[in-house]
Amino acid sequence: MTDDQKRNDAPRSRPIRIALPNKGRLADRALELFEQAGLRAQFRADRALVASLGPDFQAIFVRSSDIPEYLADGAAEIGVTGADLVAESGREEIVEILNLGFGRCRLAVAVRDESPVRRASMLPAGTRVATSFPRIARRYFEGLGTEIVIAPVTGAAEIAPHLGVADVIVDLVSTGSTLRVNGLREVDTIMVSTARLVASRTAVEDEPTKRAIDDLATALESVLRAAQKRYLMSNVPRDKLDEVREVIPGLSGPTIVEVMDDGAWVAAHAVVDADRVYQTIARLKELGAEGILVTRIERLMP
Ligand code: AMP
Repeated sequence: MTDDQKRNDAPRSRPIRIALPNKGRLADRALELFEQAGLRAQFRADRALVASLGPDFQAIFVRSSDIPEYLADGAAEIGVTGADLVAESGREEIVEILNLGFGRCRLAVAVRDESPVRRASMLPAGTRVATSFPRIARRYFEGLGTEIVIAPVTGAAEIAPHLGVADVIVDLVSTGSTLRVNGLREVDTIMVSTARLVASRTAVEDEPTKRAIDDLATALESVLRAAQKRYLMSNVPRDKLDEVREVIPGLSGPTIVEVMDDGAWVAAHAVVDADRVYQTIARLKELGAEGILVTRIERLMP
């Protein structure tokens, strides 16, 4: 047996650690998602910073912005944080496992309303940029060939252009209303960010840990997929089955179940898109469907 194999086969001295946001925009949804996947956080005390998360994992609760650092330092193997924060950390030891989709926002360049600037490429060398994303901002403006001066801030960058501290800001935006209220206008989007399941490179290079991460990702993915679908059941006239199949194609055609009547009706079951349920029901009713039932799905693994 090689040293590598011995190391990989050695039992872990502690459970696999997952770093989760302790508060802020990503915290509640992250915890909820793990719970829906069957991993409920069990705290020993009310405000504990550590919790067990099923038999295989332990959660530690830290700031979203610190999570890349904890992974890179080996304090945790897996984490949930924003793609923006992973990019800003510049840590190459971190690998993305799964896009979790929530916490959507964009990192944008914004100028004062009255500025004649329409695109970031119009900004001159020496432009002062207020941001808590200095690494991403610098890289972005380097790409445009513009040398900038960073005015580092840790939050509320919107005020900086009005105080003469900076000419523009690079900040996170979701609806854009904060920018508008503060008299700023977006001129470019640097990146779109959502929450990601990430892991340290060391963790994915360790076979047993990699397997546990893959299983976790499969479970989370099945929950995310299920959230966009519904299970629809309906009694439909047997002679309308061809049309029904077009309305509810399901994953591989609807499931047809006999109804104990004179043979005129069958029950059709299928997985349908949640955001089209309304139209689907209307179409089925046009075909004479009755007893339509729609339920949520907990997990979906096609
Ligand atoms: P936190 O500082 O813990 O509230 O987390 C901030 C992270 O939440 C950001 O880095 C983004 O990944 C994400 N996020 C989603 N929408 C927004 C938003 N409108 N403003 C700031 N952060 C957001």
